[in-house]
Amino acid sequence: MPHPLRSVAVFCGSRFGADPAHAQAARALGTGLARQGVKLVYGGGGVGLMGEVANAALAAGGEVHGIIPDFLLSAERPPPGGLTAMEVVPSMHVRKTRMFELSDGFIALSGGLGTLDELVEILTWRQLGLHDKPVLALDIAGWAQPFVALVEAMITQGFVGESGRRLFQVAADVPACLELLRHAPLPDTSAPASRL
Ligand code: AMP
Repeated sequence: MPHPLRSVAVFCGSRFGADPAHAQAARALGTGLARQGVKLVYGGGGVGLMGEVANAALAAGGEVHGIIPDFLLSAERPPPGGLTAMEVVPSMHVRKTRMFELSDGFIALSGGLGTLDELVEILTWRQLGLHDKPVLALDIAGWAQPFVALVEAMITQGFVGESGRRLFQVAADVPACLELLRHAPLPDTSAPASRL
């Protein structure tokens, strides 16, 4: 049966992180998406976990669409063998908008402030009703726990409604993440993305 989602954006670190479990998960995720026929949309870099997920997806015969701002080309060095599609865009904001437009769902794999920014922005767009595409956070080596705790604290303090918990799901590992993705409710494509 074909996968219900045609393409998924993966937000992840431009570094590897201290625990090798992060890179292992990145490779497993790239391979898993490719094997299920899901196009990988990502930031276009060849460094850190970004490179791991993209190269694994390509090696497994998957489609990989990168979107990179021109000023980051030298720092985030796209994979030298190329991707199946690559867009060079003028800014970070255009990058995030294009990643949003091209993707039916989102996965936050481990990463730093850039990954956090991308995760939070896609959640705030969902909170505002601008989309209802599934958002998953992968909890590799406890990476997602402080974020989950922060959201819980904001709910307790009355800054986020109880529905904030339903904006995203947490997966303990890559197989669980792929399983959640396969069964995620289909996004409503009539959502008013033009208001972004
Ligand atoms: P990091 O998690 O900090 O390693 O960053 C992961 C990716 O997010 C890198 O490709 C960064 O260039 C990217 N990034 C960082 N800040 C932003 C931002 N404000 N908007 C879009 N992408 C960003």
